[in-house]
Amino acid sequence: MSAARAAAAGRYWNAELETRPWQEIERWQASAIAAMLPALRERSALYARLHAGAATTLRELADLRALPFTMKDDIREAQAASSAAQPFGSNQGAPLRDIVQAICSSGTTGQPLYYAATRADLEVFSDAIAHTWYTAGVRDDDVVAHLVGLPMVAGGLPYADGFRRVGATLCWLGGFPTDRIVREMRRLRVTALLATTSFATHLASQWDAVGRETGIESALSKVLCGGEPGLNQPEIRGRIESGLGIGHLRETMGLGDVIPAMWSECEAADGMHFNAQRYVAIELIDPASTEALPWAAGTTGEIVYTAFTREATPLVRYRSRDHALVVGAGRCRCGRTSPRIRCIGRTDDMLIYKAMNVFPTAIRDLVASSFAGRVEPTLRIWKERKEQVRFDEPLPVDVEAAPAVAAQAYEALAAEIEARVRAQLQVRVAVRVLGPGALPRSVYKSSLFAVRDGT
Ligand SMILES: [Zn+2]
Repeated sequence: MSAARAAAAGRYWNAELETRPWQEIERWQASAIAAMLPALRERSALYARLHAGAATTLRELADLRALPFTMKDDIREAQAASSAAQPFGSNQGAPLRDIVQAICSSGTTGQPLYYAATRADLEVFSDAIAHTWYTAGVRDDDVVAHLVGLPMVAGGLPYADGFRRVGATLCWLGGFPTDRIVREMRRLRVTALLATTSFATHLASQWDAVGRETGIESALSKVLCGGEPGLNQPEIRGRIESGLGIGHLRETMGLGDVIPAMWSECEAADGMHFNAQRYVAIELIDPASTEALPWAAGTTGEIVYTAFTREATPLVRYRSRDHALVVGAGRCRCGRTSPRIRCIGRTDDMLIYKAMNVFPTAIRDLVASSFAGRVEPTLRIWKERKEQVRFDEPLPVDVEAAPAVAAQAYEALAAEIEARVRAQLQVRVAVRVLGPGALPRSVYKSSLFAVRDGT
């Protein structure tokens, strides 16, 4: 092996795929999709219906636009058509004897969905997820704490398989109380940690005090966070880094329906690279008009996935409902060529204020960064009903003051926040500033909403 190849081998999980110009990757993906499409209608009753009458020829990735999107409701309906022979419903693309695992989407809303995986599907998951962890800096000499509690969910076994594929030492500590997690992490000399952003923040607040009881120095040096937006805020990043005593913090993202970890930050820590190019093609669309958007810096849109090797649960043009801001396209400083994004929120969380789209996370990020030191980096938006999306009156928002702020200053602070949000986001909010600790904190994922009628 030449010296250059040896160096590349230590930098990339798949040097060939990661450093080729992105247009070449897209051309290669188009040929793989073209080869897969004709038989898809025979394997899946869902796609026999969705793709009826559509052409199956595909010369370039843009030709995918001739095919309809697959929506979450399509998958839900397909699941509802389950039977003893086809427990995964009408999109079960492989016979039961070839299916070796059921994976559950986390199901934060409604009934959970099940996805089937064949042995080959699991191979794909392991390789793509390992690639994602590798880009985020996990190596074979790391001892990794995996804190997801349930093996069946997309972040459970599949994530664990990815760590083992990298060659890291997997320590599955999910499901234990926080103080026990901290103690075991010290005893096992854990060097890397994967957690939701909320949980990492929670852990950071207890790390030192509980850890010191063990008398063992922390070996932790790398933290991977994801599962929700939040790392866009320097305030949150700072809390995790200082609380856990680390400088290597990387955001990661995936989608349980497609591959649960596909995006991660490289050492430049400036947006997440796409790491599943060997198995999944990506498109960016305007969620309202569904028009195609370019992977160009500054563009925001919804990500659409085509998992072109998937056997047991095929997905073509699957709308993720995840909104991304493209922060980089073309070759990154690290040498990778895949687009880099930040996640700005879910279409499902989007609110409409007088015909304008508003992401609650955008309000939170603006308030947390503009008023750092005066407010806590969390807030709560009140809805009249759970389903409320439209607002004609200013959005009612609760913000928590930092301990240093005197109660007499709350009113002026509220007015200042209202003015700033209006100026930056063209949205009116009605802010109430509350005392420290007034907002509920969820350990695993923080919700930005509260509902007045309590349902
Ligand atoms: Zn990079």
